[in-house]
Amino acid sequence: MPPSGEIVGFIGLGNMGRPMGASLARSGFEVVGYDADSAAAAAFAGETGCRTAPTLAALAAAASVAVTMLPTGAIVRQVLLEEEGGALAHGLGVGNAGGGLVIDMSSSEPVGTRALGAALAERGVGLVDAPVSGGVEKARDGTLAIMIGADDAPAAERAEPVLRAMGDRLFRAGPLGAGHAAKALNNYIAAAAFTAASEALIVGDAFGLERETLLTIVNNSTGRNFNSEVPMKQHVLPRTFATGFKLGLMAKDVAIAADLAEAVGADAPLAVTMKARWAEANAALGPGADFTRAITHWEPK
Ligand code: NAD
Repeated sequence: MPPSGEIVGFIGLGNMGRPMGASLARSGFEVVGYDADSAAAAAFAGETGCRTAPTLAALAAAASVAVTMLPTGAIVRQVLLEEEGGALAHGLGVGNAGGGLVIDMSSSEPVGTRALGAALAERGVGLVDAPVSGGVEKARDGTLAIMIGADDAPAAERAEPVLRAMGDRLFRAGPLGAGHAAKALNNYIAAAAFTAASEALIVGDAFGLERETLLTIVNNSTGRNFNSEVPMKQHVLPRTFATGFKLGLMAKDVAIAADLAEAVGADAPLAVTMKARWAEANAALGPGADFTRAITHWEPK
């Protein structure tokens, strides 16, 4: 019997989903995987020994809970309500006596998450948003930070044992969509810090200040942050650019934060600038590039 009795259908076995699904399996959950890319599904099955489902309908028939770890909220909605005629949401609803549950762990757009919650409720399926922070390394270790948004306490409580298998810091952010809002705002801060550090390195280059020297000083001073300590030091200095977090996803997160500011009528000019700056780098380098490569677009040619 899996912990908490849930059988987890895991949808989206990419950079993050694959190690997160593996953490669930390691914790004793029965996991059934699904990805539109059959190579990603096969790699997951090979690595974990878990089953994969050939269709969303088959996944819904096997699972009591569906976890989504997909690129965007629009794709999450499409997978649940549109692909295969909405077989996933329908199957989760009718196939589970206590009601089906979807846990969206993708970094989705919070206003869309609220609309999706209403559409799923009509089909007898609950929704909890539970995006993550920590990147591929913490996904592998099962030590992600997870921010939870839920409108009803029983749904959040039902999701928690599943989430504890993937993260060691769980935060109740607020109602449905609050986790997604917190995630976008966190990544906006991280993106702004990366942009500021990139500019500092570029200014230092022009002045004749060694990049390694400047970063060592910053990392022992008040400018220190996660981006200066890890991505800058481990991926920008050696120019390996391989954090496992794609530029297209970072540009999307920054745009979500800027759009949220606009939607609520908040004055956030830096978010507007960041949205434009990351969109430009994304257009120039392509969404599949590692996000740290953005500095190569900002460096003088
Ligand atoms: P990824 O691009 O590596 O993986 C996404 C997976 O979804 C791919 O395997 C793809 O084939 C699959 N997919 C796309 N459309 C599909 C569909 N219609 N049906 C089924 N499968 C489909 O992305 P990732 O880095 O794993 O990120 C996933 C989510 O997590 C994103 O929302 C991202 O912003 C967020 N996130 C990523 C990181 C990171 O460090 N990579 C960290 C925190 C949060």
